[in-house]
Amino acid sequence: MFFIYLQKNVVMRIDILTIFPDLLESPFNHSMIKRAIEKGLASIHLHNIRDFSTDKHKSVDDYAFGGAAGMVMMVQPIETAILKLTSERQYDEIIYMTPDATVWNQKEANRLSMAENIIILCGHYKGVDQRIRDQYITKEVSIGDYVLTGGELAAAVLVDSVLRLIPGVLSDETSALTDSHQDGLLSPPVYTRPANYKGWEVPTVLLSGNDKKINEWREEKALELTQKIRPDMIND
Ligand code: SAM
Repeated sequence: MFFIYLQKNVVMRIDILTIFPDLLESPFNHSMIKRAIEKGLASIHLHNIRDFSTDKHKSVDDYAFGGAAGMVMMVQPIETAILKLTSERQYDEIIYMTPDATVWNQKEANRLSMAENIIILCGHYKGVDQRIRDQYITKEVSIGDYVLTGGELAAAVLVDSVLRLIPGVLSDETSALTDSHQDGLLSPPVYTRPANYKGWEVPTVLLSGNDKKINEWREEKALELTQKIRPDMIND
């Protein structure tokens, strides 16, 4: 098992650099993320990269050197934003969301849930000028082997996966421990009332009240499901 569930007394601060802050208003205003913020366990700050541009037209992108197709996000506005934030506090990670990185997973989410301050940079167009990545980015994250238009949805995925692991965010803290991937397996099937719906019955062991048997059933099902759907996880 690789989960981390330590006591965490600090508020996690997440600063997100984006050219479309409005895209992130809704995902952070609902469900667990909203709860984390309302409970004072996390704070999220959206920064419009355009506000940091010194260009008279507030440009944030320019043509790619070498004549390649697509625009590239310029160094200056992003650097100015990062320097402002890092002059105010220390950051554990400065993360760039990008498809050309290793793919995000539960183990990484557990690790990041222990961080205090993080910056997340969302790209657009062909991505950000490589010099920003070379000089400032401490971690690059992809959410999957496909390409999105921008980094905002990817950032929302990362933030959601991390914040729900902070003790106090979920109403039952142990719930996250039994989710898929938390212990390297997929989660077993779950059922709720009624026990019989149109003749579709819940496995009787779950109604037995025998915790030992129920746990054994869950372990067996988790293994069975993982073997069937994600055999690679077993080999790992
Ligand atoms: N030219 C880049 C490439 O081929 O690697 C793709 C750029 S993509 C159109 C624009 C932005 O969307 C990226 O800079 C990144 O921030 C975000 N993005 C796209 N796909 C992503 C993914 N799978 N994971 C994380 N971020 C992604």
